[in-house]
Amino acid sequence: MKETYLDNSATTRLDETVLNEMLPYLKEYYGNASSIYSLGRESKKAIEDAREKIAKVLNCRADEIYFTSGGSESDNTAIKGIARANKNKGKHIITSKIEHLAVLDTCRELEKDGFEVTYLNVDSKGRIDIQELKNLIREDTILISIMYANNEIGTIQNISEIGEIAKQNNIYFHTDAVQAIGTLEIDVNKQNIDSLSLSAHKFYGPKGIGVLYIRKGIKFQKFIDGGHQERNKRAGTENVANIVGLSKALEIANRDLIEHRKQIENLRNYFESQIVKSIDSVVINGDINNRLPGNSNISFLGVNGQDLLLNLDMLGICVSSGSACTSGSIDASHVLLAIGLDEDTSKSSIRVSVGKYNTKEDIDYLINSLKDIVKRQRNI
Ligand SMILES: *Cc1c(COP(=O)(O)O)cnc(C)c1O
Repeated sequence: MKETYLDNSATTRLDETVLNEMLPYLKEYYGNASSIYSLGRESKKAIEDAREKIAKVLNCRADEIYFTSGGSESDNTAIKGIARANKNKGKHIITSKIEHLAVLDTCRELEKDGFEVTYLNVDSKGRIDIQELKNLIREDTILISIMYANNEIGTIQNISEIGEIAKQNNIYFHTDAVQAIGTLEIDVNKQNIDSLSLSAHKFYGPKGIGVLYIRKGIKFQKFIDGGHQERNKRAGTENVANIVGLSKALEIANRDLIEHRKQIENLRNYFESQIVKSIDSVVINGDINNRLPGNSNISFLGVNGQDLLLNLDMLGICVSSGSACTSGSIDASHVLLAIGLDEDTSKSSIRVSVGKYNTKEDIDYLINSLKDIVKRQRNI
């Protein structure tokens, strides 16, 4: 049975070009980047070259880039690190109800330490209200953390405007841009972003490697104690191959951004138009006019999303119900509840996320399979 992978918001397949770029650092160049002999210097050079390339794409300085194990670690480090190092200025944080758990659970941890967190509501499309954000800013607000684009419904927030508001009020602004890389433009200076997370495996790079950008001059606590790697902010021998892979994947993502966006958007729009035409009682979730190009989150009323997933899996099709981190659990998605869906509708939803290796055949196969399965499930 052919595997039809349509869960590119959960993770992506490693690009062959990226793999080839990584291989020498898994084979010949195995030196420790902290060693002074030439084998070590090879590794050091590869890391610093990667840092330069990444900084160019984000429009920041190379010494504002820190390598981490991925999006979760970057979010944790940014939010906890900035909050704890700046608590003398205030202990109030603003975020939203639809953030990834890497942000939400981090904020909940900080609440245990005496920080106060305000969780912004979103409207039925998943957008925060800029006026509400302005109204909630206080004397002691030190950090705003709002994601660039949502991983479940794809809704894109107005990052530049939030960044501007944060700047005017002397508040640090962190954005989880994990889903945005590869399809949306990023310029940390133009968009007034003080801190940003990204993760390589969401844009055809390797798993277990991410970037945390933090603007120079912002104090933040180190996350891993030990050696002096990453300018004494994150101890541990660097994963050179993964770092090289991340920078190559980012270079490709940046180079192909517009073309890639168009390609997956066309497939996603084709998918939704066919579904709406051939299956009744479906609801498309998220901001139809402003969402990630490959994202489609649909509720099939009267059908259980988990049953849909299992039936699709039997046909070799990989999609997800809401976020991968919560699938397996029977809780309704916190994002779908936040946009106002009731529990039943939330649980009748699936997320299809189109990626660069998908074809029209994949989409046709999914459409035909869904037609059969939904009909069958509704007859039970
Ligand atoms: C995947 C994801 C993360 C977590 O990234 P990992 O590299 O898997 O830790 C964080 N935020 C968002 C929006 C994501 O989609």
